[in-house]
Amino acid sequence: MLIDTHCHVHFNAYRDDMDDVITRTLEKGVLMMTVGTQKDTSRRGLEVAERYEGLWATVGLHPNHLTQQAFWDDDELPPDQQPNTIIKTRAERFDASSYLELARHPKCVAVGECGLDSYRIPQGAEFEEVMRVQEAALRGQFDVATQAGLPVVVHCRDAHERQAQIIKEYTDAGKLTRRGVIHCFTGTMEEAQRYLDEDFYISFTGIITFPPRKGEGDLSAVQKVVRELPLERMLVETDAPYLTPIPYRGKRNEPWYVQFVAQKVAELKGISVEEVAEATTANAKALFGLET
Ligand SMILES: [Zn+2]
Ligand SMILES: [Zn+2]
Repeated sequence: MLIDTHCHVHFNAYRDDMDDVITRTLEKGVLMMTVGTQKDTSRRGLEVAERYEGLWATVGLHPNHLTQQAFWDDDELPPDQQPNTIIKTRAERFDASSYLELARHPKCVAVGECGLDSYRIPQGAEFEEVMRVQEAALRGQFDVATQAGLPVVVHCRDAHERQAQIIKEYTDAGKLTRRGVIHCFTGTMEEAQRYLDEDFYISFTGIITFPPRKGEGDLSAVQKVVRELPLERMLVETDAPYLTPIPYRGKRNEPWYVQFVAQKVAELKGISVEEVAEATTANAKALFGLET
């Protein structure tokens, strides 16, 4: 059994076949957490989770949804080859009371994804202002998680220094008692260690299946982190529909492809995939309080 701790199976990419994808995933023994990124997708994730055992939801406001922009992910194929990867967002202002209400839903197991993303700054926007708005929404969601007694799902890109500082500030103040996970981790071992010091988990996507870039040697930087990071602090995820692992890279991702992420972890650590499945599933259950 595996748990895909971070997918977006309720997103438009599955508009035509969401129930098939969920059923297929559950039949393969893979459970799922589907992650909200703004108010309407958070609400919709809960509605889908109500209908399935083995599927839970999170509610949150993604930093890229605080500003209006359109982009594609350079970890994916260029948009002319894969139109689905163009992500258009509209701006939402963080409103704590509606997220707190959503967070109290029985199928809600975490607050997020929330966090800091200094990689995708919209053209023409002022960097400091964008980061200020992101930090305010992040703090708002950490407060909601603290009030609701839930862990957090953190999205952080190119901002680990500040992100780790804010987490430490909260844990030092006795907040975020349920802690959380840094999802889709692509930082360094030193950056990972700062989160481990605060009892956070680190989660990996299909990016770990991608070959190293020129000059990286036999292993990519993130593959080296996987090898070093203790299994007891590790989670696996797909971030579907994005970041499809090899051997399906370039196609739409599906939650059950998390098995390829787990296989890669096993290969990098020189252990069995069963051991990876057992440990990461136990970690996910402990962190999110999943009852299976
Ligand atoms: Zn993310
Ligand atoms: Zn995500």
